[in-house]
Amino acid sequence: MSANHLMGVYNRAPLEVDRGLGARLWAKDGTEYLDCVSGISTNALGHAHPVLVQAVKDQAEKLWHVSNIFKIPGQEELADDLCAKSFADVVFFTNSGTEAMECALKTARRYHFANGAPERIDIFGFDGSFHGRTYGAINAAANPSYTEGFGPPMQGFHQLVWGDKEALEAAFRSPTTCAVVLEPVQGEGGCRVTPDEYLRWMRQMADETGVLLIFDEVQCGMGRTGKLWAHEWAGIEPDIMAIAKALGGGFPVGACLATTKAASGMTVGVHGSTFGGNPLAMAVGKAAFGELSKPETIANVNEIAGYLKQQLHGLKERFPDIIVDVRGKGLLIGLKLVPNNREFMGLARDEQQLLVAGGGDNCVRILPPLNLSLDEAQEAIRRLEAACEIARTKLAT
Ligand code: PLP
Repeated sequence: MSANHLMGVYNRAPLEVDRGLGARLWAKDGTEYLDCVSGISTNALGHAHPVLVQAVKDQAEKLWHVSNIFKIPGQEELADDLCAKSFADVVFFTNSGTEAMECALKTARRYHFANGAPERIDIFGFDGSFHGRTYGAINAAANPSYTEGFGPPMQGFHQLVWGDKEALEAAFRSPTTCAVVLEPVQGEGGCRVTPDEYLRWMRQMADETGVLLIFDEVQCGMGRTGKLWAHEWAGIEPDIMAIAKALGGGFPVGACLATTKAASGMTVGVHGSTFGGNPLAMAVGKAAFGELSKPETIANVNEIAGYLKQQLHGLKERFPDIIVDVRGKGLLIGLKLVPNNREFMGLARDEQQLLVAGGGDNCVRILPPLNLSLDEAQEAIRRLEAACEIARTKLAT
């Protein structure tokens, strides 16, 4: 494979993956890996899950694409299922997380526009957040490393310090505020968990001020935290929510979910997509969401997460020179490291055939499939422990 004709935007690991099954990946040279990245929270049912494989095969023989000018097979059923199992009344299907976020941001602004307050355009996000790479998404997260060089900041987007309640209250109370957007559990930013109490207060403030609450559950939703939606832990609901990643189990599917009220400005012609909600994506999405939302899938997340958390705290005690914090929720786990996280990831990969993801704040993320077995979880801990031992000598700071 030559990288010469690929745009150089990725810092890729020197590993060419050939095939996968469950929580295993095999490189072209035959080396077997335990996959605790899952396509960054995407292959939530593992690789080549038989139900998903069958769904792709069956649909591929019938119909791939028509256009949203027609009724698309599967869209209404998947939307029904998503709404039955969430706060939402309506759904717009996309191909990715960033498109789901784009729709969420546009839905929020159109809501105020359609309800006689076009001046309410201000959208507040938080440091450490990640919402994708479209202009709307990079401006909503306002992380300088993603916005630099892409022109002036988009009007009406503001970043707050995560946890600065005073600043957030002022934002809620401003008459031009449209929406507040956050990941209930930050993914890329290093697995920071927004406390339940804080989320409940945000809901209260939003209700009081008419500001819309947008949750980005692209990474933390669909069972990953041990509830179907991460916000369920706080017992509150957003007005609008972006999801993607696990929704297609590895096939590109995203969605923007909203209440009828929040979506009241999204009328004919104001938004659209050629591929969003195509028949193949809907067939796989229905199959994947069906599996992900099963009580036994969610129960497995909690069981395996409980085991991993306990073991990881043990490793932190034994390797305080390597691991300084264990954070996250469910199977969205962050380990804040002393040695450089990228070097540690490389070491775990090359010396222990364990794949983990990077994250902000010098974290590595452990994002196994939600159906990981206890045996596989034990194996992950053994490999991680061995990686910590090696890191002690090789990555001494
Ligand atoms: N939002 C969150 C929380 C994410 O983690 C991501 C991707 O990592 C996105 C949005 C963007 O999703 P996509 O890469 O599918 O556009």
